[in-house]
Amino acid sequence: MSRRKMIYEGKAKILYEGPEPGTIVQYFKDDATAFNNQKKATLEGKGVLNNRISEYIMLGLGRIGIPTHFIKRLNMREQLVRQVEIIPLEVVCRNVAAGSISQRLGVPEGDQLPRSIVEFYYKKDELGDPMVSEEHITAFNWASTQEIDDMMAMTLRVNDFLSGLFSAAGIRLVDFKLEFGRLYEGDMVRTVLADEISPDSCRLWDMETNEKMDKDRFRRDLGNVTEAYADVARRLGIMKEHGQAPTNEGK
Ligand code: UDP
Repeated sequence: MSRRKMIYEGKAKILYEGPEPGTIVQYFKDDATAFNNQKKATLEGKGVLNNRISEYIMLGLGRIGIPTHFIKRLNMREQLVRQVEIIPLEVVCRNVAAGSISQRLGVPEGDQLPRSIVEFYYKKDELGDPMVSEEHITAFNWASTQEIDDMMAMTLRVNDFLSGLFSAAGIRLVDFKLEFGRLYEGDMVRTVLADEISPDSCRLWDMETNEKMDKDRFRRDLGNVTEAYADVARRLGIMKEHGQAPTNEGK
């Protein structure tokens, strides 16, 4: 469809060369994958929803002074972002136990954690993204101590911002994953938020019913995946007149 030069194709997004040096076009696909690519599907409309939700969140974060790669949304499926060097880590922040922390440490799913917990995972599909400590990160030069401090501080600010944003929409932010990049500006390097923030990378539960409104619907075969994403978008006030969302909600 696009005549732009492709730079990279990931599981849920394609990156194309941007119109100006230092820019990239992020294209949101409808593809969904889970369990390190073992489960795959196409969910019609998911890319459009994630593009809009991620735009909305990145703009909000920018407004409170968190630097992001986001420049602007171009169309239904594409956004223009700054080219960054991705730090090879996934930064996960948890408020409520779910997923791997429940499996690894036996914390019952749904338990409120004593405090927000930040974890680092090494981005390496072949290894299944193993959890790593600051020791590994600095020893193998994946990021500097300064960058770790920056990522930690930004992640906790993102957590506070998102917790409030979602709670006002009747949604509990259980956990989420962030990625960061290095933005080179002359001889300066800045750590900025990159990638996307969407129901693909967050666990979102309805505040009252605990119903899942995120990618776990796909991982656990719960059905109505895009409907749930559309509901998130609608509750945030992003896609008001979109027909996909159920209409029986007043919240
Ligand atoms: N996550 C993600 N990409 C990954 C791994 C995790 O976006 O490659 C998100 C996931 O959606 C959840 C949070 O990070 O919101 C924590 O995931 P967890 O460690 O519990 O792993 P999972 O249960 O997804 O294997």
